[in-house]
Amino acid sequence: MTIDENYNLIVVRPKSRKDIEEAAQTVRQYLKIAEDALYIDVLSILEFSLQALFNDDIIFSVPDEWFREEEAYYDTQKNVIFIRSDVYDKAASGDGRSRFTIMHEIAHYILFKLFGLPYTISLEDIKNISDATLKSMDPEWQANTFTGAFLCKNDIIETLEVEEIEEKCCVSQTAAFVAFCRSRSISYRDSDMEEFSNWSLKLLLQEGGGIFGGATA
Ligand SMILES: [Zn+2]
Repeated sequence: MTIDENYNLIVVRPKSRKDIEEAAQTVRQYLKIAEDALYIDVLSILEFSLQALFNDDIIFSVPDEWFREEEAYYDTQKNVIFIRSDVYDKAASGDGRSRFTIMHEIAHYILFKLFGLPYTISLEDIKNISDATLKSMDPEWQANTFTGAFLCKNDIIETLEVEEIEEKCCVSQTAAFVAFCRSRSISYRDSDMEEFSNWSLKLLLQEGGGIFGGATA
């Protein structure tokens, strides 16, 4: 979870995994992505399809200079997805992790549009919320869940091995592993997830401090 500068927790309205996965499939359909498409052109969505989704002026920017620690972020106030240039270039040359990073920011945009902007709750408030509910209110969990379901659609990967998911969906080995487990309803140990978790945690830490623009200020 992300904590803002006033030690409040940044949350969104609680959504179940099913809610998020259904939203991902609805967006795939809306974008006219073939039911059985394993490879999704993330940069094409970013460049050509995103504005039409909610008919607004969302843009993306790949600045020459980059002063932030994170690799990409969505600024809700400016309605701009900012991407570090090397991450954009790597995504363009098919790097799975960079593709996931960019889709994660697109997911933030889509989820905020569908379910509302983030807000903060105090650490005191958390005491009355169960762990499971709290997890379902984490914007990072929601964006990662959406991205996983969007890039690696359950019903078309359930017969594939991890390596095949990695190659055909063009995602990192870790994302492929998570998708493999999800499609077969296999629970995995946290230790198996170490790489993914570290990366995810790193994103969380990097995304504190007002990344959501005015929403958290
Ligand atoms: Zn994020």
